[in-house]
Amino acid sequence: MIPNTFDYSAPAHLKDALELMANGGKPLAGGMSLIPMMKLRLASPEHVVDVGRIAGLNTIREADGKLHIGANATHYDVESSALLQGKCPLLAETAAAIGDIQVRNRGTLGGSVAHADPSADYPAALQALEASIVLTSASGTRTVSAANFFVDTFTTALEPGELITEVVVPVEAGLTGTSYQKFLQSASGFAVVGIAARVRREGGRITLARIGVTGVSGTSYRALKAEQALEGKAGSDADIAAAAALVGEGVEASADLHASAVYRMHLASNYAARAIRAALSKCA
Ligand SMILES: Cc1cc2nc3c(=O)[nH]c(=O)nc-3n(C[C@H](O)[C@H](O)[C@H](O)COP(=O)(O)OP(=O)(O)OC[C@H]3O[C@@H](n4cnc5c(N)ncnc54)[C@H](O)[C@@H]3O)c2cc1C
Repeated sequence: MIPNTFDYSAPAHLKDALELMANGGKPLAGGMSLIPMMKLRLASPEHVVDVGRIAGLNTIREADGKLHIGANATHYDVESSALLQGKCPLLAETAAAIGDIQVRNRGTLGGSVAHADPSADYPAALQALEASIVLTSASGTRTVSAANFFVDTFTTALEPGELITEVVVPVEAGLTGTSYQKFLQSASGFAVVGIAARVRREGGRITLARIGVTGVSGTSYRALKAEQALEGKAGSDADIAAAAALVGEGVEASADLHASAVYRMHLASNYAARAIRAALSKCA
């Protein structure tokens, strides 16, 4: 339980952190995942670059009609942000569902997204929100959609030397309702299955349906067949049940000590129905 020896830097400026990372430095944010991995020697970085002291990297702001959340915003910052609660409640609700208060006070949005645990909560919400992940390195900045960012188990589109600097989500209109529902592992709080639903109903018909899924398989995904089944419908109980039954369509469910593949699929449909129903109830 003792990590290998490593060098440690805590730069105050983004430029300095990116330079250290260009030379092989490994970013450390809240340390809630990286430190245990180092202690278990699943990770042995030679140089740890603590990005937690970089000014401005935890800002949550509205600009250009979108919400920009700095990567260093803790889960508690996201959960308690009045701006997010009012204009993107799905993200605040999802942050509040993570782990316990200690984890939410230390863990960060950027760290969780970069870690890409297949049972992490944020990926479901970011898929449903069609979020953008902003990646910065010493040679520039690029933006990747959530759909393209989460590649596989603990695998993302991040290239060596790149730091997530912010996550960008839409400002939700009044006609949109959202909900995150999860069946959790009682020991850690991680999602055995987590479903984020985002729906818009106009003139009695669902005009937009986005459903993000975490926990079911090796990586998060959007349940496109379920979304298609909902769009154009009124949102009756039968419409919800038909869509929820499609949430695992084309996906190979994981099996582990927490749930068999069959049980996971059962949970996914069940929690999809709950999330869709709750989201529809919030449409203005
Ligand atoms: C007891 C416990 C319970 C938990 N329960 C849950 C839960 O219910 N749901 C859930 O979703 N999560 C849960 N977590 C995980 C938690 O959310 C972590 O905070 C998160 O996975 C990692 O965030 P961090 O800021 O601590 O990152 P760190 O541990 O510092 O880093 C994690 C990884 O991300 C990289 N990294 C960090 N920041 C950046 C960045 N800005 N750009 C690029 N790479 C970066 C690091 O190099 C490392 O590879 C739990 C953790 C613990 C310890």
